[in-house]
This record gives sequence, C-alpha cells and structure tokens, in this order.
Amino acid sequence: MSGAARDGQLCRALIEACGDLQRLGLTHGTSGNVSIRRDADSFFVSPTGLPYDSLEPPDIPLMRFDGRWYGRRRPSSEWRFHRDILAARPEAGAIVHAHPRYATALACTGRGIAAFHYMVAVAGGADIRCAPYHTFGTQLLSDAALAALEDRRACLLAHHGIIALGVDVNAALRLAAQVEDLAAQYAAALAIGGVTLLDAAEMAQVVEKFRTYGRQDAEDADLEHAGDRPPAL
Ligand code: 13P
Ligand code: ZN
Repeated sequence: MSGAARDGQLCRALIEACGDLQRLGLTHGTSGNVSIRRDADSFFVSPTGLPYDSLEPPDIPLMRFDGRWYGRRRPSSEWRFHRDILAARPEAGAIVHAHPRYATALACTGRGIAAFHYMVAVAGGADIRCAPYHTFGTQLLSDAALAALEDRRACLLAHHGIIALGVDVNAALRLAAQVEDLAAQYAAALAIGGVTLLDAAEMAQVVEKFRTYGRQDAEDADLEHAGDRPPAL
C-alpha cells in the first residue's frame, strides 16, 4: 500500500473512532479527541473544536513529535498529551480522550477507580488512577496524565474526563467504553454504600490472567480441544 493510501486509511479510521465516541455516548459536542500513530515521529490527531460528524480525511492534521503540524485544520488543543503519551509508550498505537458521564462524575470527586471489581485490571493494574486537575491543553495536564498512566492503559483526569490507549484505535475505544462502564458500576456501588475492595494479590492474579484472556491459544490444563466439529448425535 502506498504511503498516501495508508494515510487515508488512518484518517478514515480516526474519523470513524470520533463518530463511535459520539454514538457510544462517550462524549458530547466537540469534547474529546483521538490520535493514531503514523510512524516513528508523527501521528494523526483530531482537529480542535470541529463537530465530529463534519470531519473528512483532509480535516485531520498530521503532527510531528517536535510540535510542527501539517494540514488545513489546527490540531486538538490536547496535542501535548497525545504526543507525550505516544512518545513515552511505544506499545500505544492510538489514544482516545473523552468526557463520559460516570467516569467524569467520579473524576469530579478527585477519585480514581479502586479495585471494587476484577475488571479494573483491564487497564493494566489494581486501580485506574485519577490525575490531578490542570487546565486543558497544558503541559502540566500532559505531565500529570503521563504520571497517572504509569503501568496503566487508562486514567481519569480530575474535573475533566478520561484517557485510554490501545495498540490500535479500536482497542483504545473499547478500553474507554470499559472504563466508563466500570465508573458507572463503581458510582452505583458507592451510592449503595459498603463497597469492599479486592486485595493486591487477587488483582495481581487477574492482571496476569488478562495477559492471555480471550486468546485462542490460552492454556488451561483442564480443557482439551477434542476436534473442530462436535460429534453427531
Ligand atoms: P479539542 O476540541 O481541542 O480536541 O478539545 C476538546 C477537549 O476535550 C479538551 O480537553
Ligand atoms: Zn477534554
């Protein structure tokens, strides 16, 4: 595939992800932004302040890690954290930022998501941290987000929203939706009262299991593949 064709594909995937953010109810208006790594020193990022349903591939700016950008639209005001996370986390192919209802409500109390449910480990550890508040678009916010993401694939941003990263944009989007679902469950459990937390050893086991969860070649000593087709009755 030519470079131009691949660029077109990445921009269309980015626009599709912006639409999904809206369709999934993870963000409203022009809140949130998405980036996709292009190569060793550049990435595509959603443009600032444009309605997601108006985006066409030429609206997606290309940014270099040195802060220069190309295109007909200015990059997202949050280009710093997209750049800094992509630079610091080579395993990340894409980043999603959104303001989903429950995760943002939780982040407005300054709280992250504690180990109330084993699925919290989907973000890579025993909790999902909440970065302290800083003005949107600032280097301070980027630094705080990067610290909250240490050994994690997602974090909350106090009085703001969430960030999720993934090997590709679909993985980042899926994780953002899972974080929001967990936040809704956690908020409900907190409202009922009496939440208890899983301990570090239990969470470490789940983090370990997630390394192979869902893989067709995962090992299970009690499970034996007896053939591709079930036997006739
Ligand atoms: P942009 O429209 O500049 O991407 O900003 C939206 C946002 O969520 C800022 O945090
Ligand atoms: Zn935001």
